[in-house]
Amino acid sequence: MADTDSSYLLPPFLKRRARTRIVCTIGPATGTLPRIKRLIRAGMSVGRLNLSHGNSDEHHSYVAILRQAAEEMGVAVGILADLPGPKYRVGEMEQPEITLSTGQHFVLQRDPCDGNAARASVWPLGLHNDIKKASLVLIDEGSIELRVEDIDEEEIHCRVTMGGVMKPNKAVTAPGNTTTVNYFTPETIEALAFVESSDIDFVGLSYIRDGGDVDRVRKYLAKSGKTPQLVAKIEIQQAVDNLADILDHSDAVMVARGDLGVELPFERVPSVQKRIIRMANEIGKPVITATQMMESMVEHPSPTRAEVTDVYNAVRDGTDAIMLSAETSVGKFPYRTVQAMTRIAKRAERFIEYPMLAERRRKVAAKGGPAVDDSIADSAGVVAGSLKAKAIVAFTESGGTAGRVATYRPSTPLFALIPDIGAGAKLALRWGVIPVVVPAHSNIQHMFTAGSDLALETKIAKEGDVIVAVVGMPIGVPGTTNLLRVITLPEPISHNQ
Ligand code: PEP
Repeated sequence: MADTDSSYLLPPFLKRRARTRIVCTIGPATGTLPRIKRLIRAGMSVGRLNLSHGNSDEHHSYVAILRQAAEEMGVAVGILADLPGPKYRVGEMEQPEITLSTGQHFVLQRDPCDGNAARASVWPLGLHNDIKKASLVLIDEGSIELRVEDIDEEEIHCRVTMGGVMKPNKAVTAPGNTTTVNYFTPETIEALAFVESSDIDFVGLSYIRDGGDVDRVRKYLAKSGKTPQLVAKIEIQQAVDNLADILDHSDAVMVARGDLGVELPFERVPSVQKRIIRMANEIGKPVITATQMMESMVEHPSPTRAEVTDVYNAVRDGTDAIMLSAETSVGKFPYRTVQAMTRIAKRAERFIEYPMLAERRRKVAAKGGPAVDDSIADSAGVVAGSLKAKAIVAFTESGGTAGRVATYRPSTPLFALIPDIGAGAKLALRWGVIPVVVPAHSNIQHMFTAGSDLALETKIAKEGDVIVAVVGMPIGVPGTTNLLRVITLPEPISHNQ
């Protein structure tokens, strides 16, 4: 396309979206091309693969379908793949279900065995180092509770304090305890091999403990030339204790409430969630609030009032993204769930305290000393608000400029004009950014004209309205957000540039 060509890919459903991003876990209920397209139309920005479930052929096919759907619909869709991480699990069993009774003796052993009502193996190796006598151990997120009575290298002797049904490969958790096991378990290495052989924008790091774990995964992937954004899943006490360090080393975070509510007393989850959202907002990194947001919609066509309130509150608190798990991977009503989430998020967005969120970000950004890029990004929202501009258009090759503007939570609609749909996918977790694919521009005046044409052609604004343009010069160099211009529409094409 010519430099000044102006035909914009802005499908109408993008304008109807919430500003809060929606992450949908893909699974048997949604893993076909027409279904993924329906999810995108309903409001999905990011498709998530949980690499702890399914096989690599299935995951490769979901990636291909997500990419094809995005290309055919002309929208940027991100792909997030979650690594299993160092999670302990019970091994295989003699039968698919084994009942343990309250009060009985039970052994967790190091060596592999087919589990039965007397013993089961635990993998990877290391649980005996992470617990003490009298520690609580949970199987399958608390379906069974054990109390440790004795430990040696080979066996952990326990008393069953709450009986239940045990199934193979279910999680073994020692709430509040520090884990020492190597992050790179065999199943994590297998999942990393999938990431290396695939086209993934975001990698979710389960059971991360500190910034060092994040660095090690980054280095591991860099060896094969992969540089996905790393999303640290906060789900154990150790991660909560090391939150500032983890935020510093990662590109985004997830409040992984499923495991968090097992590893911590569940009544602590809401305050920890609020703290994670606030800290991520302040340092300008995207945060996803995950798990059980619309859980009842796995089976039912409308959410509970408690779920509606949960989504509403997370959005008002400043989460960048909200996530669906079983609701979209195996649920009966995946599209209705995304539509319902969109309605709740849009309602909540009317009541976000935008100036307060911008002020919090500004205060923390200022600690790093004067920075042109942050100052321009912040000013874009302020200027747009005071002039009642119809849009902020950020010209961005890497996505950095638009992402930076978003961290100041402008109340004005924010468009990222990007020449590459791949860079748009990397913006898919950023609150409020609508990526629009445009031809690459090497001429600044042509960029302004493109922004003006986009606003007029897509009826975001009309003649006489104002838009705010943000650019980094020189064009194409990441991290150079340094130009802000107010444009009264229409912007004439200058032929002398
Ligand atoms: C969670 O625990 O909330 C979570 C998102 O992780 P997973 O889906 O891997 O359990």
